[in-house]
Amino acid sequence: MTGRTHDLAAFTALNIVFVTHPPPQMTIATVIAALGANMIGGLLPDIDNATADIWDKVRGGRVIGHLIQPLIGSHRMISHSIFGLAIIGYLLKNIILPVIGTVILVDMNIIFDALMIGYISHLVVDSFTTQGIPLFFPIPVRIGFPPNKHLRIKTGGLLEKILIFPGLLFINGYLIYTNYQFYEIFLRSYLK
Ligand SMILES: [Zn+2]
Repeated sequence: MTGRTHDLAAFTALNIVFVTHPPPQMTIATVIAALGANMIGGLLPDIDNATADIWDKVRGGRVIGHLIQPLIGSHRMISHSIFGLAIIGYLLKNIILPVIGTVILVDMNIIFDALMIGYISHLVVDSFTTQGIPLFFPIPVRIGFPPNKHLRIKTGGLLEKILIFPGLLFINGYLIYTNYQFYEIFLRSYLK
């Protein structure tokens, strides 16, 4: 899927978790950082793709992308698996976020959750594409939904534009509409 779809899918997943598992009180800085972390998480699995959107978001990113790609293997390999998710999750929780936490004062548990929600949403969305994902890497089997790959979606194709993207927008609209008061209470706590 395209970066735009992954951005929206990550946000949608965060929104679903937000409504179904109401989070504890958090600072406005944490809210903003969590939204950013969620977007990064949603693009992170494509670090193995030198031309992916995530590399456009950092200066010199394309160069770094081309350097990193040979280390991780070809596109849609380890980073699109449970194994890759576990490694990234471990590094974030134990090394990367604690270091960032010494300079930025936000709730790192919430940032971690937002990142992981984004990451998992990416794998879910990619599993709807023709190529599927190597979910159980290094076992060389590609997983996809529906199992018949001819029924799946082509990245950047018409179905992604007219079905997936609007579908995700609809889910967000529906969540906000049906849980309006919940969002209102959450937002109002920052206006006191
Ligand atoms: Zn991907």
